[in-house]
Amino acid sequence: MDDLVVPGLILDRVAYGERDLIVTLLTRGHGLVSAMARSARGSRRRFGGGLDLFVVFQARLRLRPPPRLSALVGADPIRQFPGILEDLARLEAGQAMLAAARDLLRDAPAPARIFDLVVAHLDRLERVPPEATHLPLLDLCLGILAEVGHVPAGTRCPACGRPLDQGGVLLDGGSIVCAECGRDVGVLDVPPAVFGGAPTRRAEAIAFLTRLMTAALGRPYRIPLRPE
Ligand SMILES: [Zn+2]
Repeated sequence: MDDLVVPGLILDRVAYGERDLIVTLLTRGHGLVSAMARSARGSRRRFGGGLDLFVVFQARLRLRPPPRLSALVGADPIRQFPGILEDLARLEAGQAMLAAARDLLRDAPAPARIFDLVVAHLDRLERVPPEATHLPLLDLCLGILAEVGHVPAGTRCPACGRPLDQGGVLLDGGSIVCAECGRDVGVLDVPPAVFGGAPTRRAEAIAFLTRLMTAALGRPYRIPLRPE
């Protein structure tokens, strides 16, 4: 099989043996790929800076059907995000964004626009002040949930079609419906600001996101950001 050459971004890295890495890649158009990167540790000769976090690179992949691991055989950097690396608050938020993307996309199709969404939010994170780093994280999670079908992409209740500009109610499983449709079954009120894109205060946003991710993933989820 020919190698697949595709833009990619590392969402997760785990050391394997003495010299290798197992990476979880978000690829542009081919979804999440788990791949072995041989000799990726110790020597930077093979991959250069391509296997660092917050680098978009041209990945060369030898795809193998699961449960076999694909092989990452090349990674040429295309774009880096120095603004994330130079600030601790941005770095923490960036790591939370990569982890959330990994968790939300694990069993979901990830078309190219999801890759572009993640890159766009990393780009935004580079430029936000440290006290606002929760906003790209919040918007990225809502954006991915909208793409994978949990949150309505528009602003209408998926059950009755009513606009959600007065807010909504989160259901177990991650859907958001209007207060009427969600009465008795909702697990969390979703503030109108979420639908209008208005800035949401940090502690509130993190608490909301914690419950949103917990409901969407069906397991307890901790957002690794300080609320202050
Ligand atoms: Zn409704």
